[in-house]
Amino acid sequence: MDFVIVIGLMYETRKNINELETQLNITLSSGETAWFRAEKNKLPFRLPEYYAGLIDPSDPGDPIRAQAIPNEKEFETILQELADPLGEDDFTPVEFLVHRYPSRALFLSTGTCAMYCRHCFRRNYTGEPQIPNEKQITKAAEYLRDHAEIKELLISGGDPLTLPHDTLNLILGIFRDCRPDIVFRICTRIPVVMPHMVTESLVQMLAGYRNRGMYVITQYNHPVELSPVSIKVVRRILDAGIPLLNQTVLLKGVNDDAVVLEKLMNGLVRGGIIPYYLFHPDMAEGTSHFRITLRKGLSIFAELRSRLSRLALPEYAVDIPGGGGKVSLSGDGIAEIIGNKYMLRNSDNQLFPYIDTGID
Ligand code: SF4
Repeated sequence: MDFVIVIGLMYETRKNINELETQLNITLSSGETAWFRAEKNKLPFRLPEYYAGLIDPSDPGDPIRAQAIPNEKEFETILQELADPLGEDDFTPVEFLVHRYPSRALFLSTGTCAMYCRHCFRRNYTGEPQIPNEKQITKAAEYLRDHAEIKELLISGGDPLTLPHDTLNLILGIFRDCRPDIVFRICTRIPVVMPHMVTESLVQMLAGYRNRGMYVITQYNHPVELSPVSIKVVRRILDAGIPLLNQTVLLKGVNDDAVVLEKLMNGLVRGGIIPYYLFHPDMAEGTSHFRITLRKGLSIFAELRSRLSRLALPEYAVDIPGGGGKVSLSGDGIAEIIGNKYMLRNSDNQLFPYIDTGID
C-alpha cells in the first residue's frame, strides 16, 4: 500500500514507514506502525503536509496527530458499531442522494477527501474515488424538483472542495436549474486541513450561488486548527458574502475537555464562524477509541453552557444508530437513563434505545 502525503497541491506517495516518518518528522508508535503494516486497512491514509505541520512531534498524544495518523485501534469493531451508522443506505431514493429528513437532503458529491480523518463516520464511503456523472447528478436534481418539501441540500461526500472547480460548478448549476430556490450547504474540512486549496477563484465560483442561500459548514475540532493561514481563508469566504458554521465532533483524546472546547468555540466566533453543533461520535466501525460516555459528554457540555455566551454555544447532539435521526442532548432529547442505557427522543418525538459504549 502507498501512503499519500499532499505537498502543496500535489499528491505524493511514500512507499515505506521510514520515508513517512522522515516526511512527517515523527516517530510512529507501535500501534500506528501496526496500522501501516497491516493489509486490512479500510479507510486509506492521506495527510496534507500543512496539517501534519500542526502536529507537535514531541507529544505522542497530540490532538492533531490523533485525528490524522491511523492506529491499529481502528481494527477493533464492537457489537453496536455499524458500517453505515446513520442508516443512510435506507434513505437513498436515487444514487448519491440521501433523503432522511423532510426539509433537507444530502448529495454525496465525491468519495475523496484531502485528509482521511481517523474518526470519519462515513468511512465506508470515503476513500473511494466515486464521483457522480452528469446523468446521475441530473436524476438527483429531478428528485429535488419533485420534492418541494426539500428546502436545503447538503453537498458532502467525501469533501466537495476536493472536486475540480468545473465539476463542483456543474453540480451546483444542475441543482439550481432544477430547483432555483434550493439553499446549499457545502460541508468541508478543506479550510481546516488544507486551507491553500480555498483559492480566490473557488470562492468566486461559490459566491455565484450565494444569492439564493449558500453556507459553508466546516469541522474544526481543536483550537490549534484555527491557525492564521486557516483564518485567512475563512475571511476570504466571509468577504465573498458566504456565512460559515462549524460542526465539532467531540473526540476522546482530542477535545474531551471543557477548557479546550471553550477556547475552540470562542476562537471560532472571533474568526467569524458560528459554532453550530457539537456531535457525540457516531457508532462507526473501528472508532470506539474516540468515544467518551454520554455522561461525560453531558458534564462537559454543562460546563460549556456556564462558560460560553449563547452565540458561542453549539447544540450538543447525537445521531441514533441505524437511521433514527438526530437527538438534541442539550435540549429535551433524553427521555430516560438507566445505567448505560438511554431512551432518546428524536425530532419526530419517537423514542429509541441507545446503549452508551463510550469509555472515559
Ligand atoms: S473530511 Fe469529512 S468525509 Fe472526509 S474523512 Fe474527514 S470527516 Fe470523513
